[in-house]
Amino acid sequence: MHLRIALALLAALLAGAAMAAQPTLEITVHARELVPGEPVRVVLRSGEPLRSVSGRFLERDVAMAPIAGQDQPLVWSGWGMIGLDQKPGEASLELQAVASNGEHRAATRAVTVAPKEFPVENLTVSSKYVEPPQEVQDRLARERARLKKIYARRAPHPLTGPFVRPVPGEPTSIFGTRRLFNDQPRSPHPGLDLRAATGTTVEASGDGLVVLAEDLYYSGNLVILDHGGGLFTLYAHLSRIDVAEGDQVRAGEQLGLSGSTGRVTGPHLHWGAKIGNDPFDPTALLDPGLYGE
Ligand SMILES: [Zn+2]
Repeated sequence: MHLRIALALLAALLAGAAMAAQPTLEITVHARELVPGEPVRVVLRSGEPLRSVSGRFLERDVAMAPIAGQDQPLVWSGWGMIGLDQKPGEASLELQAVASNGEHRAATRAVTVAPKEFPVENLTVSSKYVEPPQEVQDRLARERARLKKIYARRAPHPLTGPFVRPVPGEPTSIFGTRRLFNDQPRSPHPGLDLRAATGTTVEASGDGLVVLAEDLYYSGNLVILDHGGGLFTLYAHLSRIDVAEGDQVRAGEQLGLSGSTGRVTGPHLHWGAKIGNDPFDPTALLDPGLYGE
């Protein structure tokens, strides 16, 4: 055999071996539907232990953490989000990792976002909730700043799912409904309203930390749970709050009683869910398909 050909063959073999030795990064996307207003659980599986992983999807950071119970941090997960105002089309999920040997790795995955239509509803409430009087403007500004700080938290997330319904009642207004209050357009419904007579027990839909438990102008008596990784659930318009900020609660634990405090047309539970500051349909959390590896 000519030496040149032998060398070329050897080079090709070495290149092939180097490619084969390159550790693999495999991205899996778990979602109920790839449409606006849905959470996307991102799982990264690595052929080598990783020191850190960061993610980016639809102009939002995806906080990635190793899935609990591994000897080596090989499988990581995080929450991505398709915003309610997202236009349909192609999107790219990008993950950057640092391997335990300090080398940088990257992986991307294409995601196709399909369109979704939401219903419209017109609600009649006290005019103070449509045109808040001047004297509550300071309060509203303080509450907005407080909530912004809460939703910026990215606690480590030992995921326990699927979640549970906080009350047994049926939905009366679905997530994403385009809303008019007293004929004036306002933000789309950022949660799900569930039928609940005043005094109905409201349960935590998942394990989490109570990060807010007090009366806010629009939400009335509100409890917010931090489930880690930027995932939060909210329970609004309560007649009574039975937990305090800093409490660690388990799924199914009583948070308080439902009611009609804040901007409401009658008693119900408003159940909200967010990834960072972006609301999504909380019923997605009930889908066991979201929690796979
Ligand atoms: Zn609501």
